[in-house]
Amino acid sequence: MVPLGPLAPGKTLGILGGGQLGRLIAEAAKGLGYKTAALDASASSPALQAVDFPIVGPVDDAAAAMTLAAQSDLLTLEWELIPVKVLEAVARARPLYPEPSVLGLIQDRLTQKNYLAKHGFPQTPYGEALSALGWKYPVILKRRTHGYDGKGQCRLESEADAPKADEVLKAPCVWERMVDFKAEISVILARGRDGAVAVYPIAENVHRRGILHATRAPARLPRDVSARAIALAREIAAAFGHVGVMAVEMFLLHDESLLVNEIAPRVHNSGHYTLGGCATSQFEQHVRAVCGLPLGSTDLVPGGASMVNLLGDLWANGEPKWSVIDGIPGMKLHLYGKSGARPGRKMGHYTVAGPEAEAEFARADERLAAMRR
Ligand code: AMP
Repeated sequence: MVPLGPLAPGKTLGILGGGQLGRLIAEAAKGLGYKTAALDASASSPALQAVDFPIVGPVDDAAAAMTLAAQSDLLTLEWELIPVKVLEAVARARPLYPEPSVLGLIQDRLTQKNYLAKHGFPQTPYGEALSALGWKYPVILKRRTHGYDGKGQCRLESEADAPKADEVLKAPCVWERMVDFKAEISVILARGRDGAVAVYPIAENVHRRGILHATRAPARLPRDVSARAIALAREIAAAFGHVGVMAVEMFLLHDESLLVNEIAPRVHNSGHYTLGGCATSQFEQHVRAVCGLPLGSTDLVPGGASMVNLLGDLWANGEPKWSVIDGIPGMKLHLYGKSGARPGRKMGHYTVAGPEAEAEFARADERLAAMRR
């Protein structure tokens, strides 16, 4: 078979999924001279507002995905839960990265964890949640699919909490031993079609109610911990045969050991700091990787970068007071163009790159409180 060459400028990159990640991928693709297409059930979705060829249809439907393929020269995705059968169908029509086999290993938490275990990557004890007999407390139950941003999860401190699990257990779940971590970090990297890898400075993440709240980079880590985290992420990306950006979320324990929490085979919220914070954003890097272009520099600006998520809660009493942040040097505001500001919904984020980044990471709560009407 003739090896696939780079996608030439002027060609169309099609994106399966229409959320904010797709929108930011599309904006980066335009900056490399590509036309863009995206598929989503809603014409007003963030990505469909931003692409040259918006295609309205269910993203898990083979016929709709084939319409996107027909409009595109090469395909990628911004959502990992597209059925593998749909991915395989479109991959027969157009090159698709990451390949369907990667998604097949990652989209079910149990399959993902088993694959990581098979390759010897460190994880908290886990299992298939068939009955309460299999686990020790404290434990966290997670839906095997369609759980994200803390949804489809349930924490049980002791047996007395067991009835709380009834709802989440209505769908197949995994159990995970609760981890007492010192910090949460993520390694964002890109792997090209040729196996070349570019790694970003490690992100340090703070979650609230299971949802990412804020990120700072570089993470405050001893050099040897950073080196181990990066080595782990590189080995994981290679073990999955991934092409594109991948995020490896990890827990740093008090004894400085690392456990893999979960993997996202796509651009990731904890990599948003790279927009303005790094020479090449994770979105441009993803486009470069899947289109077969050389990977760009992941150099961080002096002073580092931070990112704060803007959730729907902030809109509870009206439009946020933007003047609170718009004077911060190095600040960039990204709004995703979503109309309904529901609590917990990711509506946008702001990044701060350079000398103010660290102070703004520390001040995130204060800024959010001041922005609220
Ligand atoms: P996840 O969707 O699996 O990334 O979980 C969302 C967040 O819940 C994580 O970023 C952690 O803050 C927390 N979390 C998930 N799994 C565990 C665990 N096994 N132990 C402690 N905290 C966890």
